[in-house]
Amino acid sequence: MTLAVLGAGQLGQMLGFAATKLGIDTCFLDPAEAPCAAQAGSVIQAEYADTAALRQLAETARYASFEFENVPPEALRVLEAQGLQVAPNADALQHAQDRGVEKALFDRLGVPVAPYRCVDDLSAAQAAIAALGVPAVIKTRRFGYDGKGQVVIRHAGEVAAAWQAIGAQPAIVEAWVPFEREVSCLGVRSRGGETRFYPLTTNTHRDGILRLSVPSPAGDLLQSIAEQHTRRVMDTLDYVGVMAFEFFIFNNQLLGNEIAPRVHNSGHWTQDGAVTSQFENHVRAVCGLPLGETSLTRPVAMINLVGQMPSEAVWAEHAEHLCVHDYGKAARRGRKVGHVNVWADTEAQLAQRLTHLATVVKPFEDG
Ligand code: AMP
Repeated sequence: MTLAVLGAGQLGQMLGFAATKLGIDTCFLDPAEAPCAAQAGSVIQAEYADTAALRQLAETARYASFEFENVPPEALRVLEAQGLQVAPNADALQHAQDRGVEKALFDRLGVPVAPYRCVDDLSAAQAAIAALGVPAVIKTRRFGYDGKGQVVIRHAGEVAAAWQAIGAQPAIVEAWVPFEREVSCLGVRSRGGETRFYPLTTNTHRDGILRLSVPSPAGDLLQSIAEQHTRRVMDTLDYVGVMAFEFFIFNNQLLGNEIAPRVHNSGHWTQDGAVTSQFENHVRAVCGLPLGETSLTRPVAMINLVGQMPSEAVWAEHAEHLCVHDYGKAARRGRKVGHVNVWADTEAQLAQRLTHLATVVKPFEDG
């Protein structure tokens, strides 16, 4: 059995490794030369909209998915027309590609969000700031990632510059949320509509890039509410596969920020701290296999390795309690080149290990 995956970055690589474990081959399509998922399967190098390449991909595969949310939904429709079972579906992808459409969905489903306005021109952006006040953030509706395509507005006089800085394109203006923490809820939904959820994960960012993810031990009071919101979105979109729903926690309440229609960086700890990893569960859902258990097996955390891989010597002290995942990418400032999952027997021991690792890996410094 072969799974076709659009995109061949590190998420694709880890999906490919998980598929191999299940006896499934993976074939990727990606415009990049020598992408890192080549370690995990065969690669067709072509643009996502290249119909001939999509047909070639479809010849080898029975199921298809994607690891990059900016692939054109039309590419999924081409694969579907070739008889492949594609998940998540093109409509779900389209919802996640546009912050305005996504927020309207949250509103419709009763998921609380920060006050926001959709804006199509500068005067609408100015009116939105007048209504919402400052600070606020303006975000492009499409193609933003890792904090790119968004600008914080601290004074009403900054709106024109912010509008230009985001490329004068359709956007949303959103009230700034002085959140207590940011969390993500990772869920997986099968073709039959069964859902399972991983423990809520607390995420710490710096410069728009995720640096640290720590799943909550059992008993997070917001877990069941986050699951309800995520399930409602997945059911409405007839979603199949892993989805990440990112929330702000403010005044002890969850505010929906955005969904990622794919496996997610904040779920990488599941490789070394959950019964079934998010990658395996995504492959299972897409390929119609039974879902795996999502419970936590031990206290665990993930630190992203940004810029360049640390030297091997850095890991010596905790070698038995961590697993380094090296994506095999060239070093580049601000680039995610790998991650390390660290675990412990108790929460306190995990906190100690994290404190030590933070001094050697320096996750909050620019790599
Ligand atoms: P996003 O691309 O929407 O996930 O935004 C990237 C990061 O910017 C988030 O993870 C937050 O840390 C921060 N951020 C985005 N929107 C807001 C907001 N309305 N209030 C406070 N922080 C925000």
